[in-house]
Amino acid sequence: MTPVRVLAVASEVYPIVKTGGLADVAGALPIALKAHGVEMRTLMPGYPDVMRLVSGTAEIRTWPDYFGGPGRLLAGSHDGLDLFVLDVPHLYARPGNPYVTTEGVDWPDNGLRFAALSRVAADIGHGLVPAFVPEIVHAHDWQAGLAPAYLHYDNRPRPATVMTIHNMAYQGKFARELIGSIGLPWSSFDVHGLEYFGGISFLKAGLQFADRITTVSPTYAREIQSDEGGMGFGGLLRQRASVLSGILNGIDTGVWNPQTDAHIAYRYGAEDLAFRAANKAVLQQQFNLDSSDEAPLLGVISRLSWQKGLDLLLEAIPTILGEGMQLALLGSGDRDLQERYQAAARANPGRIGVVIGYDEILAHLLQAGSDALIVPSRFEPCGLTQLCALRYAAIPIVSRVGGLEDTIVDIDEADSSGRDATGFKFAPVTADALAGSLRKANTAFHDKPAWRRLQRNGLATDVSWRGRAGEYAALYRNLVAARA
Ligand code: ADP
Repeated sequence: MTPVRVLAVASEVYPIVKTGGLADVAGALPIALKAHGVEMRTLMPGYPDVMRLVSGTAEIRTWPDYFGGPGRLLAGSHDGLDLFVLDVPHLYARPGNPYVTTEGVDWPDNGLRFAALSRVAADIGHGLVPAFVPEIVHAHDWQAGLAPAYLHYDNRPRPATVMTIHNMAYQGKFARELIGSIGLPWSSFDVHGLEYFGGISFLKAGLQFADRITTVSPTYAREIQSDEGGMGFGGLLRQRASVLSGILNGIDTGVWNPQTDAHIAYRYGAEDLAFRAANKAVLQQQFNLDSSDEAPLLGVISRLSWQKGLDLLLEAIPTILGEGMQLALLGSGDRDLQERYQAAARANPGRIGVVIGYDEILAHLLQAGSDALIVPSRFEPCGLTQLCALRYAAIPIVSRVGGLEDTIVDIDEADSSGRDATGFKFAPVTADALAGSLRKANTAFHDKPAWRRLQRNGLATDVSWRGRAGEYAALYRNLVAARA
């Protein structure tokens, strides 16, 4: 196995900084790739948490003026991850999350902040760090989208490039004037370059110039080639279809393991699923729900946004109540959705419980104690919570889109697909179709052997990174061979 050296570029990496699924992937993939002979280092910005947590840092390079202030490139490590950290205090040493202020407003200089990250990625690609000259630069999402563009416009021998889309909705759009301050030529303001509806898009830069494009499920790879799913990039992706593919995400099966999980009240495996009832009782207590083993408990762990379709679940509440089910929702995001869920909980004490916030520990308990996990997304590039649900024997009830379609086998399609059923899928993505699925799930719940079968099939599904990392390794090797 010839080793391959890859520089990953990501704006968030679990367990250091996380706002969503991108961080999970960026944190898990390098470790899973080791078994496949891929040596991956990850470049990320030096936010305060990064500077606090990353150890063994060595200064590789300093600049008196990097995008308007002093900057340094550090090498260091954390939790098995080999990292490059771009420490530019005037760009990254701030409170709030990587993208928004504590008031939830985008940092006004986000264009500059992530151009700076991509610029140094391209420079590492050119050999800035002699001890680590990558054969491939792998850019994740719009924050790293300029890396393939810099490498293109630098007009020098360059490493191969891969662009991964974790969510088409985030496109890194800025005013055209930014080009003047990020070191790209004005010729890049072109329909075949960065130009996008009169401004520029960092995501487009990556999609235009990367040698390969991947996204996080085969179905999403197809959906984004349509005008609707492509959210403005359908045409470009149809043109680039021959280099576009979908590779499913895995989850960290060490962190998500009901047999060893320190965050749940009662640990269990396939042989002692009965212990889930004890977790359910704790969950009911924490969400102020009536204690009842007979009422199916539906769980939700999600950002509250239009994408996630949770307004549809609000419409389906009469079905939940009518069927004698309970709902426990953990989420944060849109203020309007937060308020509507809180109102639903107030109106239905004991039946609907809502916790607004981001809480990793409670997320584990929800997986361990819910009977079913609902993911009614309007679009879902891959989705991770349904994978965790399979591993915790909570039965996924999901819409038939993106990675949800690829990772869950509907109870009615098991025979035709030759795969064992693991959950319930509904289409179209409407409140009515969702309600139909809830009724079907309720019937199955009361047929104990049928429910157990679904649970066991889910537990037997491989949701780890092992196989998926192999697909990335094969892509890297093919790409290196194609360019040789
Ligand atoms: P997205 O990245 O679009 O938010 P994913 O399903 O790909 O959706 O990943 C979401 C990740 O964030 C999962 O690991 C999920 O458990 C976690 N998560 C989402 N909302 C919360 C929350 N309110 N509390 C704890 N974890 C959450």
